[in-house]
Amino acid sequence: MKEKKIILTGDRPTGRLHIGHYVGSLRNRVMLQNQGDYDKMFVFIADAQALTDNMDNPEKVRQNVIEVALDYLAVGLNPNKSTLFIQSQIPELTELAFYFMNIVTVARLQRNPTVKSEIKMRGFNNEEQSNFGSGLPVGFFTYPISQAADITAFKANIVPAGEDQKPMIEQCTEIVRKFNSIYGETLVEPQIMLPGNEACMRLPGTDGKAKMSKSLNNCIYLSDSADELRKKVMSMYTDPLHLNVSDPGHIEGNTVFTYLDAFCTNEHFANYLPDYANLDELKAHYMRGGLGDVKCKKFLEKVLNETLEPIRNRRKEFESDIPSIYEIFRQGCENAREAAAQTIDEVKKAMRITYFDDKELIEEQSIKYKA
Ligand code: ATP
Ligand code: MG
Repeated sequence: MKEKKIILTGDRPTGRLHIGHYVGSLRNRVMLQNQGDYDKMFVFIADAQALTDNMDNPEKVRQNVIEVALDYLAVGLNPNKSTLFIQSQIPELTELAFYFMNIVTVARLQRNPTVKSEIKMRGFNNEEQSNFGSGLPVGFFTYPISQAADITAFKANIVPAGEDQKPMIEQCTEIVRKFNSIYGETLVEPQIMLPGNEACMRLPGTDGKAKMSKSLNNCIYLSDSADELRKKVMSMYTDPLHLNVSDPGHIEGNTVFTYLDAFCTNEHFANYLPDYANLDELKAHYMRGGLGDVKCKKFLEKVLNETLEPIRNRRKEFESDIPSIYEIFRQGCENAREAAAQTIDEVKKAMRITYFDDKELIEEQSIKYKA
């Protein structure tokens, strides 16, 4: 029998979605959805996870739920094909996470590289710098466990995500194996689906920093206007050694070229920069010297705009009826809850904590007390 393909991914409502999300995960999701080669696809807004490191401003999370919802619909996620839902509305996820907490050690969580780098980035281990004078919230520290519950509650076996999520999926796999070894085959092991192109694994920010991230203020948002897009591209980080047009330039770590790697095709050259047949030719010229940053940036702006313009326009349409967006998600939550509830039922049976329906247990106990 062919294995069922169940796809699941989510995003934190800590801001609007950006082009890093697009190349890292959204583009793959829409492609999978439109190919139709799957049994079920779940996409969710991880508001409960976002609260784990935003207790200084929970209203930010609440306000951004609709922003992420609009971005989802704008990029082409279709509620008739995918179940779109909001994490906090599915209490079964919390229930499952609670049981998982017993099969993960503190030491294992401390070793999770994503948690480590996020703790550092957010200044949690430095009480003076941290938003939380009181240090690291327990909920944040344990979020890989909650993420494992999100994935396994839907029996997802494919998780399209950026490279930073690799350690999360590894930890989830360990939890599944441990659970199954204690209670018998119940949960499904997930696999990460990374983007095909190296540049998309971890798209850097416009400031050249390692990762474009809502929290680092270095993003090109999917909803940026054409004007904002132009300004951001024009002020992008390039090659600090490329002072004069005639100087040889460097491609490595040059964000303009990383974005071109992630977005441009030979067709873009034919349409906007016909002096070059492809990106290799443009790179070769830049490295030789004689090619200015402005020319490359103008080209990049056109390339990005070709992807972003339809997204921007579709978003405008969805923005005109906000109540209907909440309705789409209400329906999605109902469907998601049904699926998660079924898994929780199976989990409880496997754990043998269905006391009232467990005739064997009741019989066994009554014999014990009759004797
Ligand atoms: P936050 O700063 O709140 O953590 P974020 O911008 O890192 O926000 P997430 O919601 O944590 O975004 O990530 C959602 C998904 O997008 C994940 O699959 C993640 O791997 C992917 N992703 C986020 N940023 C990038 C990036 N710069 N390049 C590639 N993929 C990314
Ligand atoms: Mg993140």
